Amino acid sequence: MTTENNPYRLDRRVVPSAYRLFLTPNIDAATFDGRVEIDVDIVESLRELTLNAIELELGAATVTVGGTAHRSVDTVLDEVYETATFRFDTALPTGSAVVEIAFNGILNDQLHGFYRSTFTDPSGATQTIATTQFENTDARRCFPCWDEPAFKATYQVNLTIPSHLAAYSNAAVVADTDLGNGQRSVSFATTMKMSTYLVAFVVGPFEETAALDVDGVPLRVVYPVGNGHLTDFAMECGEFALRFFSDYFDIPYPGDKLDMVAIPDFAQGAMENLGCITYRMPDLLIDPATASIGEMKRVATVVMHEVAHMWFGDLVTMEWWQGIWLNEAFASFMEVLCQDAFRPQWEVWVEFSAARDLALEIDGLHATRPIEYTVISPEDTRGMFDRLTYEKGAAVLRMMEQYLGAEVYRDGIRHYLRKHSYANTITTDLWDALEEVSKEPVRDVMNTWILQGGYPLVTLEDGVITQLPFAYGPTTGESSIGTSWKIPVMTRSLKGSGPSVHLLEDSPMSVTDDPPVVLNARGAGYFRSRYGVAETAALADHMDELDPLERATVVSDSWALLLSSQISADQFFTVARGLGNQDEPTPWGTLATAINFIDRALPSEKLPALAQLVREIFEPQFERLGWNPAPGESELTPQMRAIVLSTLGTTGDNVAIKAGAARRFEANDMPGNLANTILHIVANQDRPGDYETFIERYTNAASPQDEQRYQRALRDFNEERVALDAADKCFNFFRNQDASIIIGLLSTNAVSGPAVWKYVTARWDEAIAKFPMNTLSYMTYGIRTYINDPAFADEVERFHQEHSLGGEQKAVQQNIERMRVGLTFAAAMRAQF
Ligand SMILES: [Zn+2]
Repeated sequence: MTTENNPYRLDRRVVPSAYRLFLTPNIDAATFDGRVEIDVDIVESLRELTLNAIELELGAATVTVGGTAHRSVDTVLDEVYETATFRFDTALPTGSAVVEIAFNGILNDQLHGFYRSTFTDPSGATQTIATTQFENTDARRCFPCWDEPAFKATYQVNLTIPSHLAAYSNAAVVADTDLGNGQRSVSFATTMKMSTYLVAFVVGPFEETAALDVDGVPLRVVYPVGNGHLTDFAMECGEFALRFFSDYFDIPYPGDKLDMVAIPDFAQGAMENLGCITYRMPDLLIDPATASIGEMKRVATVVMHEVAHMWFGDLVTMEWWQGIWLNEAFASFMEVLCQDAFRPQWEVWVEFSAARDLALEIDGLHATRPIEYTVISPEDTRGMFDRLTYEKGAAVLRMMEQYLGAEVYRDGIRHYLRKHSYANTITTDLWDALEEVSKEPVRDVMNTWILQGGYPLVTLEDGVITQLPFAYGPTTGESSIGTSWKIPVMTRSLKGSGPSVHLLEDSPMSVTDDPPVVLNARGAGYFRSRYGVAETAALADHMDELDPLERATVVSDSWALLLSSQISADQFFTVARGLGNQDEPTPWGTLATAINFIDRALPSEKLPALAQLVREIFEPQFERLGWNPAPGESELTPQMRAIVLSTLGTTGDNVAIKAGAARRFEANDMPGNLANTILHIVANQDRPGDYETFIERYTNAASPQDEQRYQRALRDFNEERVALDAADKCFNFFRNQDASIIIGLLSTNAVSGPAVWKYVTARWDEAIAKFPMNTLSYMTYGIRTYINDPAFADEVERFHQEHSLGGEQKAVQQNIERMRVGLTFAAAMRAQF
């Protein structure tokens, strides 16, 4: 289907260039009044004018062209295509015109369009704000517009608000007038040319930091009153990111200021509105004195991701939603690159391999999908905001960057952004720009990764590398896993220096490096590796000579081979024992995940043997690290310690550690780096009264991170009564933004999870109506862990086949297939232990 005959797309006979928007929200009544003036070019004379609008009450349209005003005589609304068509008595002549429409609408509670959100201020009073979230296609819920990314225009926003509230939008304030009736009129500067989905405004009892001048760009953090002490770290990240990206892209920041705004109810992590980035509270506001390093990394990640979008996404934008994956993949790649420069000691590229694993896990299922696929309706893109877009997309971009060389790649990106500034692109425009600069066949190579699902298993055996598609299990029907890839493979000899670079296609290739040889050297390849018998033996004693990313990759590849029944548990643990005594949270985290899954697979009489194995591997690490930080220890050590304690305190059944966690919990002695670990171990013990304490501490949490810790750790209570109470609270107590996520987490509990699944599926229609779209598939996250009861697995599968989540159903199918893979795995483990 082409642009011309896609019924979801507006025709280009009328093209907007500038919007002047006047809005008066009535926060108490949850309504708003508005008026918009749009400068347009009428390219072809016509008697009707169609633009996007939904859930709005529209007045007539007045079109002034050549000094004559034409008023529409009737309006036809189309709820399927979400359009309004204004009809005129006479044909509108061609030329420059101004369209003017008055309208009103509702401030909804659905966390999209123009919506309301509430929070409790420090005095205990409930406060209400009005804010926006327009991506993908919800600007049309706020004002009539050409709501497609390709219709770029400027925006000049004017808000009439109660005098005591603050207001923010994409650009700086140019006028702020007291209207004398308890209201103020706030006008913002005209933005650059951009897409409707990037327009934003926020109104409410907010405060802001003083503006920091970052080479001419005023940077602020905006927050609900009372959170000013949580802004320093976000400011530091924002300042670093603005400088880093201006330099990397070699283009100045495209806006006139940058506000980063914390929103109490927000369905996404954050949103890259030009100059007015909105965030979930824990993704922006943080106190480094009480936070864990992981929580700080999360803030840095989200801030850097969003700031990268100011160029890649906002300045240069995909032509249609089909290209949204590249937007997100690129920002996800840049967030790591930027963070690596910000805190090299965090070794974030090693940690990124764990994020990449999450994509590899989904992408090894037959129910995967190509990164890019044809998008007709905006609904089609709902399935695009997943790990394949973010993590696989970022990983294949990183693979290409390492293959081309960092500088050549950066020059290609600069070339692309300069060439397409203020305009729109399709995916191949980026490959072409990289190809022009590098002279390498970028488009050909990338097409094999983007246009088909899956990835290869690369084998090094008898000095030869070959590829086969990787899959966790046999297919029972259709498979979206591709057949062959053009793979940049780097190998290196542990005796030699730099890696050798190969572009592996269908024919086997010889590797001439001296053994022992590392496949996926430097760890940037998006594939799984397997070694032949001789190669495995050569490498086994040299695990300590790998670099940390290579070591993490070897462990995660082994885990994938175990989960797909291609190696035995013995072989896996032989590799894992090679980890030695390095503080490397990423591979140790993979090992902990594997142990957890084996623990689920085994019947209770076999658990003591597993616990014994866990203690053998982890207790030497505990003896080395203890509970308390040592002076001068690395910033990775606290994360390592947390993994060791968590594992020993649960599957390892270490009595002293369980008691140690309980003691700290009772004394509320919860240092940031250990808080999650302590809660995990304590909840898992199901002691009377602890659940009530969790809820009480959640309610009185001192920071967004603290709130999140208590909320998420609820998953670890095994007792059914408690788990069902927590599930019920998702309908009436927790914030709606978190509901699907908590249900997903609760349903993963090995003991109480299935009861939570039954409870939620009994309230399915209610959940779907209430929880935000695009989060619904999280509710099915736990079903991948139902690996011991084939009859129950059938029941789960049947229910979800009969209750499709539309655009999010792909994720549900993937969870079902994961469950099937797990059933096979569990049977294999029961035979091996
Ligand atoms: Zn993004």
